[in-house]
Amino acid sequence: MEQPERAVRLRKDEIVEVKNLFETVMTFASHGMFYRSGRVMADKIVKTAGTELGRVRDAIIKEGWATDVDFDGDVVTVTGSIEASSSDAPTCHVLRGILAKVFEERTGKDVYCHERKCVSKGDEHCVFVIDTEVL
Ligand SMILES: [Zn+2]
Repeated sequence: MEQPERAVRLRKDEIVEVKNLFETVMTFASHGMFYRSGRVMADKIVKTAGTELGRVRDAIIKEGWATDVDFDGDVVTVTGSIEASSSDAPTCHVLRGILAKVFEERTGKDVYCHERKCVSKGDEHCVFVIDTEVL
């Protein structure tokens, strides 16, 4: 008999604090781990919402990762990233991983996702670029 899906909720301040803890211990290596974690979490988004970007947007918002997502070619603008805090560098590594995985599923190619602007650095939005040439 299939069990009902279970989930836990993390508040924004808990996510930021846990990420800071990992960063304190692992420094930049933690960014790669968050990125890969995002790729894992994107599996469910792709499974349930597919890869149509309107549905992906709705799923990302519903899961609580952002309050809005705008797709424009290989540029993704995110409002209200739950990973945003205060930093001198971009901090939304899980979202980078989620977006990378979604675009890989859409294109069938390996991609990398960079965060070019981030609210954590004082930018108005978090802006991600999907790079298909890097791998
Ligand atoms: Zn950001």
